[in-house]
Amino acid sequence: MIDLSASTSSASPDSPRVSAYGMSLSDWEEWLGAQGQPKFRAKQLVEWIFGKRAKTFSEMSNLGAALRQRLEASFSLARLPVSKVSGSQDTTRKFLFRLEDGRYVETVMIPASVSFAGERSDRITLCVSSQVGCAYGCKFCASGLAGFTRNLSAGEIVGQVITAEEEGNEVVRNMVFMGMGEPLANLPRLAKALEILNAPWGLNIGARHMTVSTSGLAPQIEKLAEIPMQIRLAISLHGATDEVRDRIMPVNAKYNIDRLFRSLAVWKEQKKQMVTFEYILIEGVNDDVEQARILAKRTRALRAKINLIPYNTVEGLPWKRPSEQQQQAFLSVLRKAGVSATLRTEKGHDINAACGQLRLKEETAEGLVVSAVAS
Ligand code: SAH
Ligand code: SF4
Repeated sequence: MIDLSASTSSASPDSPRVSAYGMSLSDWEEWLGAQGQPKFRAKQLVEWIFGKRAKTFSEMSNLGAALRQRLEASFSLARLPVSKVSGSQDTTRKFLFRLEDGRYVETVMIPASVSFAGERSDRITLCVSSQVGCAYGCKFCASGLAGFTRNLSAGEIVGQVITAEEEGNEVVRNMVFMGMGEPLANLPRLAKALEILNAPWGLNIGARHMTVSTSGLAPQIEKLAEIPMQIRLAISLHGATDEVRDRIMPVNAKYNIDRLFRSLAVWKEQKKQMVTFEYILIEGVNDDVEQARILAKRTRALRAKINLIPYNTVEGLPWKRPSEQQQQAFLSVLRKAGVSATLRTEKGHDINAACGQLRLKEETAEGLVVSAVAS
């Protein structure tokens, strides 16, 4: 029996059709086999779906009429309905997508000229969401404020890319899983989506151009390390000691810094690749130079890169960003200790500014919070 659990949307009993965007080549081979069809049709199907971006099964002219009808009855090629687009082509564009069950997620398209982790990219970057809401409840984050609603299916993750490319009239060559949700809490669907995004028969996005960000789910980091793909890993650290991390990130009670760093050693061993640490600077919480010294000591051995991000204020939360002088002092301790670190300075001109704190504002403005979180 074909397992579509990673492909299907978890909701909508009245719409049983599975998104074709969550189906891998081997899923199609299995499904076609069960229909008494030859395996080679799977290649034709993915070419229509991902290569030609077909909008209907009826246009798939090299498939027989009976097969097209069966496909039509079981699968959907629908793009994610766009509820709202904000921003502009030269800054960032945010898409608010309405999902089949009436929930909302955001996807952010960042143009090539905007920097990420201190580096300028010559490619457009798409920041995608992995869940509706987030269960991890970091004290500073808007995405976690309303709690967790549900995982996105692989089809909904890939669907964000397909729809954003079409709506934004761009080809996505860089991706970050830094939208709403904790991607590693949705690992089976994330893994399926990564396979489809990376495959030559799929969206063909280079593994090295896909970054998965996590708040530190150590066992899942070790599992992700086993996936044979050179994807990048970013860790939302935000504190160099358990004392500081405990204060702002409840996940630290489960996987403390020692446990987290053990998982990063596994990652480094498997991937032969360094990780990036995201470190939001929050005034009076994690911005003193002593934290910077400890941070330098802990990360030097990993030869990791640190991306310092001045905190973006979230309405209703008490946290503030430190003065520029304090930000520079923190940066300078790291650099003097020989750690590779960057600090975002231009306001709004960084991926993190664009996609670190999604959804809440838009939904409040539209009065959507209740429908998006009620379950
Ligand atoms: N759950 C994953 C993926 C989300 S990434 C994770 O936490 O890594 C979103 C990034 O934006 C995280 O590094 C998060 O800590 C950061 N972030 C959240 N709220 C922010 C804020 N108000 N200002 C700046 N960065 C923020
Ligand atoms: Fe969830 Fe990441 Fe926000 Fe924490 S920072 S609440 S893990 S989305």
